[in-house]
Amino acid sequence: MSQEIALQVNNLRVSYRAGEQAIPAVNDVSFSLYAGERLGIVGESGSGKTTLALALMRLHKPPAYILGGEAILGDGKDIMTLDREAMRQTRWSRLSLIPQGSMNSLNPVVKVKHQMADAIEAHERGWTRAHINKRISELLGRVGLPDSVAEMFPHELSGGMKQRVCIALAIVLEPSVIIADEPTSALDVVVQRVVMQTLNEVQQQLNAAMIIIGHDMGLMAQSADRLAVMYAGKMVEVSPIRSFFHDPQHPYSQLLISSLPSPEEQRELAGIPGSQPSLLELPSGCAFHPRCPVAEDRCKVDIPQLRFVRADRRVACHLVEEQPA
Ligand code: SF4
Repeated sequence: MSQEIALQVNNLRVSYRAGEQAIPAVNDVSFSLYAGERLGIVGESGSGKTTLALALMRLHKPPAYILGGEAILGDGKDIMTLDREAMRQTRWSRLSLIPQGSMNSLNPVVKVKHQMADAIEAHERGWTRAHINKRISELLGRVGLPDSVAEMFPHELSGGMKQRVCIALAIVLEPSVIIADEPTSALDVVVQRVVMQTLNEVQQQLNAAMIIIGHDMGLMAQSADRLAVMYAGKMVEVSPIRSFFHDPQHPYSQLLISSLPSPEEQRELAGIPGSQPSLLELPSGCAFHPRCPVAEDRCKVDIPQLRFVRADRRVACHLVEEQPA
């Protein structure tokens, strides 16, 4: 994995307006994304993952608004400060999104080739029909679909094929950053693996960096190079994938791992006690303290910062000490 940064997010904050109140959905999130790497982001629903994805694309809608922070692409441009036209040019060409439930966004009664041609023509004006058709054929090939799919209607395709069309649409302009929000949800387990494999291959061919948002730890283990865990709008652990699974540091990560079935040992599923707090009434101090099995008094008062505990690991917990390399 290269150390060239494809996207640097600094102190990003996104809130929802509710009357006089600002509800923090993404709360001071910072992370680096390296060229060619796959960063998984996991968390329970409502932890801020999708809001983060939409804000990075500047596709969030009111009442969500960006309160502050930066998201700097490899070319030095800060997505958060781009004007409308610059953002239009950047979106899909520098970073693209495979949104949650994207396969349902395909128009079922418009042939795949027309939907793909629309996406190409929106950015590549002046291309001839032959040029566009050639590009459609290339894109379908990249996601493992035959040319004949171009002539089909989405309602004639299986869920896995539709999702691969959506991946093809996301890479029309060969972006350097791909954000895939729950790319395999609503697919059966076997198809999930195939779609994920296609996504990984496409990402490698383009040498793009990819953010994979999801909650399936198995798929993350298979695909991600690093994993970031979100809880109540904050990142609480960012770690290389192997270290995460072998030695999770944050108490929430430890509970996530212990709730997974293990093929090697017969172990009772632990589950995580309690539920994620409402963003309207976040607990004081560490937002995880009401559920944390090892919380101390200071956890109710002091907010733990996400800090390096090793050169390649960051954790937001008062109890996690710095570790020797
Ligand atoms: Fe638990 Fe305290 Fe660490 Fe939060 S800071 S995860 S409450 S030990």
